[in-house]
Amino acid sequence: NENNSSNFIRNIIINDLETGKHDSIITRFPPEPNGYLHIGHAKSICLNFGLAKELQGKVNLRFDDTNPVKEDVEYVNSIKEDVEWLGFNWNNLYFASDYFDEMYKRAILLIKKGKAYVCELTPDEMREYRGTLTEPGKESPYRNRSVEENLDLFEKMRNGDFQNGEKVLRAKIDMSSPNINFRDPIIYRIAHSTHHNTGDKWCVYPMYAFAHPLEDAIEGITHSICTLEFADQRPLYDWFVKECEMENVPRQIEFARLNLTNTVMSKRKLKELVDEGITDGWDDPRMPTISGLRRRGYTSESIRNFCREIGVAKADSKVDSQMLDFFVREDLQSKAPLAMGILKPLKLVITNYPENDVEMIELENNAKDETKGTRLIPFGRELYIEQDDFMEEPVKKYFRLFPGNEVRLKGAYFVKCNDVIKDENGNVIEIQCTYDPKTKSGSGFTDRKVKSTIHWVEANTATPCEFRLYEPLILDDAPENEGKHFLEQINPNSIEILQGFAEPTQVKCAKSLDKFQFVRNGFFSVDNKYSTDNKLVFNRVVPLKSSFKP
Ligand code: ATP
Ligand code: MG
Ligand code: MG
Repeated sequence: NENNSSNFIRNIIINDLETGKHDSIITRFPPEPNGYLHIGHAKSICLNFGLAKELQGKVNLRFDDTNPVKEDVEYVNSIKEDVEWLGFNWNNLYFASDYFDEMYKRAILLIKKGKAYVCELTPDEMREYRGTLTEPGKESPYRNRSVEENLDLFEKMRNGDFQNGEKVLRAKIDMSSPNINFRDPIIYRIAHSTHHNTGDKWCVYPMYAFAHPLEDAIEGITHSICTLEFADQRPLYDWFVKECEMENVPRQIEFARLNLTNTVMSKRKLKELVDEGITDGWDDPRMPTISGLRRRGYTSESIRNFCREIGVAKADSKVDSQMLDFFVREDLQSKAPLAMGILKPLKLVITNYPENDVEMIELENNAKDETKGTRLIPFGRELYIEQDDFMEEPVKKYFRLFPGNEVRLKGAYFVKCNDVIKDENGNVIEIQCTYDPKTKSGSGFTDRKVKSTIHWVEANTATPCEFRLYEPLILDDAPENEGKHFLEQINPNSIEILQGFAEPTQVKCAKSLDKFQFVRNGFFSVDNKYSTDNKLVFNRVVPLKSSFKP
């Protein structure tokens, strides 16, 4: 069940099924192929596909491709891939552009009924004539053209006799309506552009407000779920369905769009980040796109669980992006095997450990689940530990390694630091320790205790890795509210790239998007773009801890 029981849309639909208004339902997810899908779309996908699945209905994936200028097949393909990756299957795949003939016929029907006319006002004039919330609009001087003249002009528009913007077709409704959407909205415009699907067949294209209700009606959609900003357009949606004499009458229901803290969530803005080179494409691991989240290492389960938890509301709000992190941690906790990885390596040499000796250390694969078994990893005289696990002059309450102090190497022995080797600049490049063979983990040794356990990898067998750590791409929570452009709010430190090592056993043969929980460092996923046979690149999905609880 992808849906929260407090989901008011689900309740409406269940009621429609129970009262027999519908025997079965059809929903749709209607992206415009003008960019990649983002986490906001995931909410809509979970809702539309989830309801259809739960209530044994059908769901269409429909590309709302009525604007030839911004659309592209690259986007069509990425959208299909992302919906499938999220774990959903559509019953039908449609393109709104397949209905252009049908829409054109319905526009002609409106003209014949005296409910549409060709207008020649300029965009500025049209804005002025439209009026405001408090002022009624004025009628266009072209409003009372005869049906014959309108039919003739619309055909000429279609035949390419006019330039872009020279004329539009408008619905003839009510210039003094309190709902501005009713003040003779444009239903067709001229655009001499090649369309990704219909090529050069058309030079007039339907506007969203006219096209969308027809698309829904043509497909027999029962419940057309959209975001709140379309609430004002619902009466117009119903008007077009009625006046165009559509057989099926879909019902539009609005819900609140998802907003996340420190995130811009509009394809237009995301495209700007890509075009300005601020991110490494649409699938940059810092992007809130589905492809970016996937590349970062988020699982589809965690995204679906997140969407279920946030539920469906009737008022806009902003969700803390840490909530998404909570769900991916929860999912990866059981799925991602433990491993040791060193992000900022420091050489540690055990001077009393036999040279060229290697022993295998057994470690658990999951701290909370014994059934996940154990693995063997090599241990020897030369190791790497984290730079942060050593301090030459320890601060107060520092219990990790410092000269004279003893710690446990996870799963192995106690080691004590005796010496520090530095380069000519005084930087510590190696620490020398001795180990106590009696202290091996599992040996039952209890004579003395240490205050900390640190992780490590064996230097000669370790696999070199690059680790990429991320912070939010957008610094401010609501840049727009303060009149700032979001591009002024880019975090200059949103990525940190580190060259380190990981234990060889499971990590060496890891494939793209394989996930690990690197001890103490967080959940990581193999990057599907920059990893090579010689070096794995890991994206940190999330650190281990957050204060957030849903
Ligand atoms: P954007 O401004 O990001 O381009 P859009 O609404 O124009 O968003 P569409 O391609 O038209 O993008 O969206 C397809 C579907 O996804 C629509 O039904 C839309 O309502 C829904 N959707 C888009 N963004 C969100 C969001 N942030 N939260 C929930 N649903 C969303
Ligand atoms: Mg849209
Ligand atoms: Mg948009």
